[in-house]
Amino acid sequence: MTAADPQSESEPESAVETARHQLERAAAHLDVDEGIVERLRHPTSVHRVTVPLERDDGSREMFTGYRAHHDSVRGPYKGGLRYHPEVSEEECVGLSMWMTWKCAVMDLPFGGGKGGIIVNPKELSSDEKERLTRRFAEELRPVIGPMTDIPAPDMGTDPQTMAWFMDAYSMQQGETTPGVVTGKPPIVGGSYGREEAPGRSVGIITREAMEYYDWDVEETTVAVQGFGSVGANAARYLDELGASVVAVSDVDGAIYDPDGLDTTDVEDHDESPGMVSGYDAPETLTNEELLELDVDVLVPAAIGNVLTGENARDVEADMIVEGANGPTTTTAERIFEERGIPVIPDIIANAGGVTVSYFEWLQDINRRAWTLERVNDELESEMRTAWEDVRTEYDDRDVTWRDATYIVALERIASAHETRGLWP
Ligand code: GLU
Repeated sequence: MTAADPQSESEPESAVETARHQLERAAAHLDVDEGIVERLRHPTSVHRVTVPLERDDGSREMFTGYRAHHDSVRGPYKGGLRYHPEVSEEECVGLSMWMTWKCAVMDLPFGGGKGGIIVNPKELSSDEKERLTRRFAEELRPVIGPMTDIPAPDMGTDPQTMAWFMDAYSMQQGETTPGVVTGKPPIVGGSYGREEAPGRSVGIITREAMEYYDWDVEETTVAVQGFGSVGANAARYLDELGASVVAVSDVDGAIYDPDGLDTTDVEDHDESPGMVSGYDAPETLTNEELLELDVDVLVPAAIGNVLTGENARDVEADMIVEGANGPTTTTAERIFEERGIPVIPDIIANAGGVTVSYFEWLQDINRRAWTLERVNDELESEMRTAWEDVRTEYDDRDVTWRDATYIVALERIASAHETRGLWP
């Protein structure tokens, strides 16, 4: 993409712009009521709250938090809470739209929501993070609940954050309400396998895609950007399957071994921040260099908008599987399409997270825990079913993998809207 290209100049685009563009592309392939598409371009509601925090030094600071509700035609709003300095209303809306499609592709009885706080969690002590989370739960209490909107972890939040959130909500409700959030530690109603699930599903979908293209896993090289929960679990799954994971990275840089890294030996970001770049590997690279490595599969699993009009022509991978939410901009997507590089989208690849969230919610409602084996077996079967649904659309129509995935999702959502009708 040259600098003169207006599309490339307009980057970076917001999540909501990308999400709308993707919706329109899918809608063009389907006979969907224009009014329903227009409805889906917008969230049902967006809640903005001020979250006061008492810092450890006794001073008070105000933070802004959001919860976007996109669509609930198929069930309660569902989606993560993000603590990040770049959280914005637009980003929450875009991410909540992606959650609607993600839940629909997986055929889960949930709609799409997303929220977060504009904060750098690295600048909070653990006590401050706890107080901020408890107050955020209290501010959101009127708009969330186990049958209405069920948050979960996302960037900057983790199982402990969800435990505080659940506790704060439960104390006010006067009853322990584990189903109000998912992604909790198993001791307080979390599901075994939930933390590994988004990365595991990236691995499962990569495996299915390799099979589709008749690639021999043993011969495949993989580069993974981001070694947090998604990246590390995806890398380890593919490593175990026999693929050669040649590069992984964290925010400080990447490590590279053309003969393949031992992914269990590299500690992930949560186990030990800074360990990736500190690991003794034959070569180090920048994150930008990792994205341009000549590998079979590239898994961007760190943050959004990393594959752009600026670098898409330099990407040498033969396939991209999105681990992060929204790593590919619209311009990059078009370049990959021109270059014939398949991009398997986030809304199926990392959907194992919300799928096991659904299992967790069922376990909470039934007050009955599943074994890790059962969770992983059911995840495997749900991922295969979703992949088959998407593959069928991909084979039947001349579309990209993203379009095929959106078509599956939009068909379900539009038909639910048609069937329920409009009231009043
Ligand atoms: N934050 C995760 C995602 O983007 C999981 C959401 C959930 O489990 O509700 O898919």
